[in-house]
Amino acid sequence: MSHINFIKGTATLSLFCGAFCLLSCNNSHDKKNSDDMQSKVSNPFAKGEKVTNDNFTGTVWLNYLAETDTVHHVNIGSVTFEPGARTNWHYHKGGQILLVTEGRGLYQEKGSAVEIIEKGQVMKCPPNVAHWHGATPTEAMTHIAIGTNTNVGGAVWLEPVTDQEYNDQDTP
Ligand code: MN
Repeated sequence: MSHINFIKGTATLSLFCGAFCLLSCNNSHDKKNSDDMQSKVSNPFAKGEKVTNDNFTGTVWLNYLAETDTVHHVNIGSVTFEPGARTNWHYHKGGQILLVTEGRGLYQEKGSAVEIIEKGQVMKCPPNVAHWHGATPTEAMTHIAIGTNTNVGGAVWLEPVTDQEYNDQDTP
């Protein structure tokens, strides 16, 4: 699974796993999962690759850290938002945990005020609650995004966060 598909949730992986299981549901499947559990990231602190899909506004980088498997129903990636960058509105069928590792950013759930999130902060995004996250207009922000309960489903992407929505906040 490529890094780009990570942001699109686990649908692609689920399809892949399903297809894999259909083709060979035997010990080789177990072996593959065992190999997955021992993958190595070249640099866990690197920005990674520039995200090129339409689920974001601005410049965003993804360092894919761990993919879900049949035992551990989570996927993990470090996402860096350059100033002004943010996700589209979206929700996670299985929820998500965000661990801010650098800088300062913004987080908003539908119907609630925009919140400032800072290095060290951990946000738990409940399943099926629409929200967005990103940098502030003037500061970059990096968070580790942990997709939880990926066996339930991945991210469902909605409309972009407008400039009006993005700027509807107290200046940090
Ligand atoms: Mn999210």
